[in-house]
Amino acid sequence: VHGPRFLLEHSFTRRRLSAYVDRDLDPRERDRVERHIDECRECAGVARSLERLLACLAFLGRHSRCRLAPGMCETLRIRLLHPGEAGKR
Ligand SMILES: [Zn+2]
Repeated sequence: VHGPRFLLEHSFTRRRLSAYVDRDLDPRERDRVERHIDECRECAGVARSLERLLACLAFLGRHSRCRLAPGMCETLRIRLLHPGEAGKR
């Protein structure tokens, strides 16, 4: 079903999703990621989770004195981006 081109875009997108939800990509990369998300349910799901996570962290930052430990955000991202590698297999 998915050709090599799809798989290429898939790994390209996976490597950039975190920067994508941070609005941290240049317009060309952003375009490419968005096009892939349109046709890949898996990446779209990860992008949504990351966006929820970021919104949640932003909320905590604004409304609580308690800060997540440095690096925590990155750990959560890695778990989201590589669900298979976080323990259960
Ligand atoms: Zn994908």
